[in-house]
Amino acid sequence: MFTRQLLVLGPELQERIFSLNVLVAGCGALGTATLEMLTRLGVGKITVIDADIVEVSNIHRTHFFKREDVGKPKAEVCVRRAREIGSGTQLEAILDIVDETNAESLVKGKDFVFDALDSVNSRLILNDACVKNGVPLIYGGISGEYGSAMYVSEDGPCLSCFMTPMEQVDSCETIGTTVTTVTLVASLQVQMMVNALRGEIPKGLYYVDGRGLSLQALDIKKNSLCEACSLHEFRYLKGIKTNCGLIRVKFEPPSLERPFVTRTSDGLIICHENCFKKLGRE
Ligand SMILES: [Zn+2]
Repeated sequence: MFTRQLLVLGPELQERIFSLNVLVAGCGALGTATLEMLTRLGVGKITVIDADIVEVSNIHRTHFFKREDVGKPKAEVCVRRAREIGSGTQLEAILDIVDETNAESLVKGKDFVFDALDSVNSRLILNDACVKNGVPLIYGGISGEYGSAMYVSEDGPCLSCFMTPMEQVDSCETIGTTVTTVTLVASLQVQMMVNALRGEIPKGLYYVDGRGLSLQALDIKKNSLCEACSLHEFRYLKGIKTNCGLIRVKFEPPSLERPFVTRTSDGLIICHENCFKKLGRE
């Protein structure tokens, strides 16, 4: 299956890829694209985490989703489609959000973590967990026909050097995008992993402009006051107020085989094994 790829990567690097244990945080547009590429590369083990369900509005930009998947958990659909590739990758779906209660246990023991989240606050939690535990984080972000990707190692610079949490109500990003931009950014992220395995650690923030057909490497300096990579305080692991996306809510659901979804005046309640409230976003 990997004969053509071996011509490019060589047997040593391919063996290293077969042995990798990777986390993909988020199984939306970016998460499905990175998951597909990582599976086709032959990554040994991939864990995918997402608590959301597939909606019709996701399908146009999301590699693995079809109309028949609407209402099903994204993480389960992602993993089922990735298994169909038949690359031998061991795949696990976790129906949960990434927050301060689980971020560290999710990243521990992983060789790489892919940030395919859509909330700045969740990214900052994941960034803290990765920097604290010395696990490389590969960030990807998308806005319209522009995107960015960055490789974060424990010494920094990290996402917390230049990102700040969104605290105002309704700060949810609802900027659209297209599948072309998603795929460009996911490709950059996965290529960064391959390069890092060769010992070529990517430096800076890579900014891709699909419309202008350009790729730029922006120099990002380590912030000497960064509470993650400089001061090692990791304040987002102590919790962060979130007004957007999915949050964990207390609710005792019945024993559920399928996700249980109810619409409330301010969002959706989604229950699998746990319950989550989806705020500020259709
Ligand atoms: Zn930092």
